[in-house]
Amino acid sequence: MIIGVLAVQGGVAEHQRTLDALGIEHRAVRRIEHLEGIDGIILPGGESTTMSKLLTIGGLYEPLRAALADGLPAYGTCAGMILLSSKVLDTRPDAVSFGALDATVRRNAFGRQVDSFEADLAFEGIEESVHAVFIRAPWIEEVGPGVKVLARVPDGPNANAIVAVTQGNILATSFHPEVTGDTRVHEYFLQMVRDAKKAK
Ligand code: GLN
Repeated sequence: MIIGVLAVQGGVAEHQRTLDALGIEHRAVRRIEHLEGIDGIILPGGESTTMSKLLTIGGLYEPLRAALADGLPAYGTCAGMILLSSKVLDTRPDAVSFGALDATVRRNAFGRQVDSFEADLAFEGIEESVHAVFIRAPWIEEVGPGVKVLARVPDGPNANAIVAVTQGNILATSFHPEVTGDTRVHEYFLQMVRDAKKAK
């Protein structure tokens, strides 16, 4: 199994370290040819509009969009979640997204004052709570019928905001498990990749 890590911008190294810790082979995806032979891809956090621009300029947008539409398993964290979604609120008019996840996502949804915060979440499919780190995070405002909500903000002013979802071979979280040393969300994704591989 080879997992691609989209490496045009953002927190690439943290995901690579997490995959290293799990003993999973991975590859930085910067150009079209890097998509060849990967079993899944991680879209890291960073700046979604910058990634959008670099993906378009570099010619990676269309082939990756097609691969996702064709069922390539993908896990997006934060900006990666934004890129996977079908509709993005509070973004630049020229920003593109892949539309692989039937969801409306709002960028920087927790407000600019609350730049970052942390919370312990109940995550469906993972036994004990997940410590979630949010950094200028988006949330999901609306989901289509095929989308399963896996986690919400437990309390506070933004209680119940949707912060983890899955649909088919897609997983997305508003938060960053790759910075906490907790590998369980990545393992959840790797199981999705294995299942997709088996189903092929
Ligand atoms: N606010 C960023 C964006 O809109 C996402 C932040 C992150 O990935 N940590 O792209």
